[in-house]
Amino acid sequence: MKKNTEPKTYPPIIFPRADPRDLARFDPRTKTCSMNCGPHALDPRTKAERMLLCDECFVNEVTTMATCDALGKIREARALLRDEAKTANSRELAMVLTKLDEAELWRQRDMQMKEVPQNHTAA
Ligand SMILES: [Zn+2]
Repeated sequence: MKKNTEPKTYPPIIFPRADPRDLARFDPRTKTCSMNCGPHALDPRTKAERMLLCDECFVNEVTTMATCDALGKIREARALLRDEAKTANSRELAMVLTKLDEAELWRQRDMQMKEVPQNHTAA
């Protein structure tokens, strides 16, 4: 029987790329990757680009988040309503708490992006 000596071929790995504008605005200090894997040898992306696209990363609480008024109020409201939820046994209240969790995550994600320079090139 003739041995198959053809080298095995694999389909090329597709690395999803980030929007360059998002990448330029992304602050890598705001994320810590929970996966301790290094980049693939063929991966053309920088660490920042991989982190921007990673859904497994933890959010790092950076100074701007700790002092953010909106985040502070969302957390305050959630803490107050969570206390109330312990005795209220209300499905609506539980849903509101879920929404407040979402609001906190949305705000944190938003704050992982640096401020866009205003009218930098517009004339
Ligand atoms: Zn990650």
